[in-house]
Amino acid sequence: MQAFRFDLCELPGETKGLRDDVRAFLAKELANVPAVTRAQTWSGSDPEFSRKMGAKGWIAMTWPKKYGGHERSAFDRYVVLEEMLAAGAPVGAHWIGDRQSGPLLMRFGTEEQRQKILPRVAKGECYFCIGMSEPDSGSDLAATRTRAEKVEGGYKVNGTKLWTSGAHTAHYMIGLFRTHLDPQNKHAGLTQFLVDMKTTDGITVRPIKDLAGKSHFNEVVFQDAFVPDDMMVGTEGGGWNQVTAELAFERSGPERYLSSFILMVEMIRELEKRGGGSFDERGGAREIGRLVAHLVTLRQMSLSVAGMLDKGENPALEASVVKDLGAIFEQDMPVRAHELLGMEPTVGAGSDYEQVLGYLTQTTPSFSLRGGTREILRGIIARGLGLR
Ligand SMILES: Cc1cc2nc3c(=O)[nH]c(=O)nc-3n(C[C@H](O)[C@H](O)[C@H](O)COP(=O)(O)OP(=O)(O)OC[C@H]3O[C@@H](n4cnc5c(N)ncnc54)[C@H](O)[C@@H]3O)c2cc1C
Repeated sequence: MQAFRFDLCELPGETKGLRDDVRAFLAKELANVPAVTRAQTWSGSDPEFSRKMGAKGWIAMTWPKKYGGHERSAFDRYVVLEEMLAAGAPVGAHWIGDRQSGPLLMRFGTEEQRQKILPRVAKGECYFCIGMSEPDSGSDLAATRTRAEKVEGGYKVNGTKLWTSGAHTAHYMIGLFRTHLDPQNKHAGLTQFLVDMKTTDGITVRPIKDLAGKSHFNEVVFQDAFVPDDMMVGTEGGGWNQVTAELAFERSGPERYLSSFILMVEMIRELEKRGGGSFDERGGAREIGRLVAHLVTLRQMSLSVAGMLDKGENPALEASVVKDLGAIFEQDMPVRAHELLGMEPTVGAGSDYEQVLGYLTQTTPSFSLRGGTREILRGIIARGLGLR
């Protein structure tokens, strides 16, 4: 049987200066942002903030300079992400382009697509959404039914994408469409396209409210939407392999264990506020210590995956382990907070702690769905270990 491998990996000492710069920037930028807003972290979108990050050179950090990138190390990027998420910065506008769609275009896009789009992503001016899931196709992406039918000069798209995060603000979608149907092989005949969300006729974006009443994701309906030939990404019919590679970009970064971090900070503040022996009452110190130990372990595992990526290795198995364990940790946080402090979550009123608890109680259930469900990840892990 194969085993996991999480080699110890330390951030290089020279990243400290960068961390200090990011902290100083965030202390100023987020000084007046309420904790419950910061709790949205990478779901929160603020184009002005994204442009400021672009100006600092903190988007597209590892990309080649010829595409607007900064040719910095994966560890520099890790430090910036870690600081942004720990502080609860609204990085959502540029998030998908920086993490997923930009790298996808560098790997599979045409030179013209790269030249036209990537420098704008790097400046924090161009945003992406991912059109994979559909009403009857989530985990089973090969069941994609949205059709892209060949017509003169391009493709005519019909169908519905669901849960599309940020479709209402995105300039482009990377859509996975069916260009060919082979009932014997449903993985064949899938193709990725760049869709211009601002100028394409025949696209309707309908917001879907989540439990917390926020509209981060959408239903996107295509009715005879025309996508030109030169907007195809990669090869016709090559979509399945491309999507699998794309998903590997998003499984093990600091976003996979820091999404509930603001709650941990507010828990500690609340305990401090109560003063006296509060930290020890109800096992406070022990519980916080246990959470910190889990957090530090997850961080070390995530850093180890970053180290493997930096060396050009393929840590798909280890990345799935980080995402699964990270989601358990993040989802456990509101439960632990409630048990420890004995206060009820609130929505729209109450202390910072109560509101953050309210927001995360409503949203953490989704953390083990986005980016691949728990069961699907465990299937990947079992396969990686040679158990199925
Ligand atoms: C906050 C959030 C943001 C999202 N953003 C996007 C986005 O931007 N773009 C996008 O395309 N999608 C997005 N999604 C959709 C997400 O990728 C899907 O919800 C997810 O892949 C699961 O698909 P589904 O909802 O159709 O559930 P299903 O696939 O129908 O699964 C239902 C249940 O069955 C289980 N299951 C399914 N297949 C198996 C199997 N083979 N073995 C064992 N168990 C199985 C699942 O684990 C799950 O518990 C987002 C979802 C959330 C919650």
